[in-house]
Amino acid sequence: MSDKSYLNWPFLSPQHRELEHTLDTWAREHLSPHHDNDADAACRQLVRQLGDAGWLQHAIGGAAYGGATDVIDTRTICLIRETLARHSGLADFAFAMQGLGSGAITLFGSETQKQHYLTPVARGDAIAAFALSEPEAGSDVAAMQCEAVQDGDDYVLNGEKTWISNGGIADLYVVFARTGEAPGARGISAFVVDDGTAGFDIAERIDVIAPHPLARLKFTDCRIPVSNRVGAAGQGFKVAMATLDVFRTSVAAAALGFARRALDEAMTRATTRKMFGQTLADFQLTQAKLAQMATGIDAAALLTYRAAWQRDQGERVTKEAAMAKLTATETAQQVIDAALQMFGGLGVVSEQPVERLYREIRALRIYEGATEVQQLIIARELLREHAPAKT
Ligand SMILES: Cc1cc2nc3c(=O)[nH]c(=O)nc-3n(C[C@H](O)[C@H](O)[C@H](O)COP(=O)(O)OP(=O)(O)OC[C@H]3O[C@@H](n4cnc5c(N)ncnc54)[C@H](O)[C@@H]3O)c2cc1C
Repeated sequence: MSDKSYLNWPFLSPQHRELEHTLDTWAREHLSPHHDNDADAACRQLVRQLGDAGWLQHAIGGAAYGGATDVIDTRTICLIRETLARHSGLADFAFAMQGLGSGAITLFGSETQKQHYLTPVARGDAIAAFALSEPEAGSDVAAMQCEAVQDGDDYVLNGEKTWISNGGIADLYVVFARTGEAPGARGISAFVVDDGTAGFDIAERIDVIAPHPLARLKFTDCRIPVSNRVGAAGQGFKVAMATLDVFRTSVAAAALGFARRALDEAMTRATTRKMFGQTLADFQLTQAKLAQMATGIDAAALLTYRAAWQRDQGERVTKEAAMAKLTATETAQQVIDAALQMFGGLGVVSEQPVERLYREIRALRIYEGATEVQQLIIARELLREHAPAKT
């Protein structure tokens, strides 16, 4: 059973503690780490369950559109992701994507867009996706080639997006494309594209080590009305980065959930596995590992809830969110690896909890900015802070 003393840290309020308790109880009753082999069906079902239970209300901002609050509460998002991740990686994924996929609309959408899209997302009636990456533009987002050319009251979209979570099952996709107002990052706009729009196809479904819906998207003379642009023309990079600033911290929280589950599993294993006339936990080598795992988790949690709290105070958290994501995902990988090692052969048996966690954590060190990208962000911010003031 996880140590929950972190819930008493000053970053969190009594409402946060109450929410974690209610969700944890709900998750124990309703979620299982094992899913149908059909990840699409499992994901649809989880969105339905999370929507019916009201949890998706926290993934969007705007009480008028079905949100729990007017402004997304980052600490709530983090607590929900951490708790869901402890119980089911796919449930965490389903929750996170509703938020990430509709985040641009919450933050920059028109009144009409908010009314049309946010309510069904918050209820679990519509599934959302966020389409930024391309085959030749992953870490280097500004290299994107997908373009949208205005033609009267429409934009005509051509190009590809890849690694798109919920690709193939989503009802709406927030797509970023080059609109050419300026070179590089300043010439990009965001659009919402409905599933089924003519000229929009799922070109390929992609299988990954921890199965979830993932696809490459193709746009061929795909016409969408100008009213589907999210935010101002040329501001798409800002839209994408602001959305990621909210959800990047929550990737750290999901990693924490996986790490806490791994530590729970390791504790149970270490204290029950008999060898050489005692238990695995009696060996100091094991104790050193357990100490390192617990300390890493607390350090990552402090960075995560610091970033979430700071954002909820209305502060800029580019550096803090990057520190949290970098530390929590890398730490979780080490914690899970150490836990798996304690299970010996059993650790690599398919669908054992630690084997599943080992597969689930891996992509978190890559998406929403790989570890190296987080390091660059942190260093850039440090150097900016250190630069002499211009006179
Ligand atoms: C499971 C999964 C789900 C995803 N879901 C989505 C989604 O829903 N929407 C979306 O838009 N994208 C999504 N992505 C894409 C993800 O954001 C990209 O994979 C990521 O940005 C890395 O881009 P890339 O794969 O092209 O790798 P590359 O950009 O080719 O980078 C490869 C590696 O190079 C290293 N690297 C990068 N930059 C530097 C540097 N400056 N210096 C040194 N090393 C560096 C990193 O280790 C990186 O992993 C998803 C990816 C995965 C794996």
